[in-house]
Amino acid sequence: MTSTIDDRYTALHPRSAELHEEAETFFPGGVTHDVRYFPPFGPYIDRAAGARKWDADGNEIIDYVMGHGALLLGHAHPSLVQAVQRQVERGTHYGASHDLEIRWARAVQALFPSAERVRFTASGTEATMMAVRLARAATGRTGLLKLRHHFHGWNDSVTAGGARMSAGLLSTAGLPPEWQATVTTVDQNDTDAIAAALDTGTIAAAICEPGGYHFGGGPLDPSVLELMRERTRATGTILIFDEVVTGFRASSGGFQERLGITPDLTTLAKVLAGGLPGGAVVGRADLIDQIAIREGDERNTGRVSHPGTFNANPLSAAAGVATLAEVATGEPVRIANERARRLAGDLNAAIRRAEVPGAVYGDASMLHIVLGRDVPPPIDDFTWNWDGAAPQATVPTTPAAVVWPFRRSLLNRGVDLIGMGALVSCVHTDTDIDATVDAFEGALADLRAAQIL
Ligand code: PLP
Repeated sequence: MTSTIDDRYTALHPRSAELHEEAETFFPGGVTHDVRYFPPFGPYIDRAAGARKWDADGNEIIDYVMGHGALLLGHAHPSLVQAVQRQVERGTHYGASHDLEIRWARAVQALFPSAERVRFTASGTEATMMAVRLARAATGRTGLLKLRHHFHGWNDSVTAGGARMSAGLLSTAGLPPEWQATVTTVDQNDTDAIAAALDTGTIAAAICEPGGYHFGGGPLDPSVLELMRERTRATGTILIFDEVVTGFRASSGGFQERLGITPDLTTLAKVLAGGLPGGAVVGRADLIDQIAIREGDERNTGRVSHPGTFNANPLSAAAGVATLAEVATGEPVRIANERARRLAGDLNAAIRRAEVPGAVYGDASMLHIVLGRDVPPPIDDFTWNWDGAAPQATVPTTPAAVVWPFRRSLLNRGVDLIGMGALVSCVHTDTDIDATVDAFEGALADLRAAQIL
């Protein structure tokens, strides 16, 4: 019986319902991104500032989607707004090189010393596509080693093999079987399987989310990354860290800075461009220089081509430069981490008080919520506890029968999540956290009353 939650949701969102009905006539399923799927319809957002957004019905929402993770500084951060406003007046696309792209690359390199060279793309998906292509060109091999459930965007190379997404497992129709055959997928903590795959000598690149699948929803033992670094080096395989979410967030210099492990290539996006479209592949000069056009060599044999209308777009560059200037102070990561840790602790306390199965855990400012499943208590109310689990173990996920009523109930109380996760920014205040915990507690009570939990 979810009628109380659902009736309230419908009553609070009449305009969103109307817009959704119209959207269904244009967009498959009424939405423009898989993760925005929300039954029966999601809230339509009208404007956003700081940690909050307002929907088309005037409801105020504390936001933990945060631009799918792009908004470490929150919505409409003043320095970013100023930079983009200034740039929009100076032109949105020069179809030519410009000073800001150099400043953007310099800011990236200052935080990611592994970035000997930088190539901007329009998205994270394009960045991983390019990283894999560079690895294949450099090694002359086609194989790609993926860790199970790790997500790298939706290009054909990396979609083969599937991935864990908030709303379930990502796999896709429409991929030629030949693509599937290029990918070897192994359990993320299974070091024997990783070593065996690399030792075949057929793998061009090993790619992973260094914090574990689904931005740390399934945390990865750092010793696996050490093994991957050692075996990729020994076998001439390119190691790609996909830091699209964790770059500038796991620490200012991403996971690689925290762990002191340097990949050959890194893919970046999201915080990189501060909420405007943008991505980059960065790393070893000899790999990325394969893109350079060689004068006098008209056939450009062995060259990796890379056009792209929106590469290093001036607006994205302006937003990126403004964002990375803030990140470089270290404060955004420090504050977001502190708030996330407090939020996780308070939410875990709420789960215990409600006596429902589940837990909240995370890494840096990336939180994950499991409800309706027994899970080992997180270490320090924050860190996922594998508790001696086997390498192929995955973190249990909240059943769909819980997810949607819970998300609707939370929205009724003014809080929005990304899937069952929360991406915390440096502008979430203690007041926001208190209000979030109240909403969470209320939603747990709603689900208990409806006998869902
Ligand atoms: N890699 C990871 C780890 C991601 O989480 C995402 C997107 O969420 C991507 C790649 C793809 O980035 P984009 O959505 O910018 O194409």
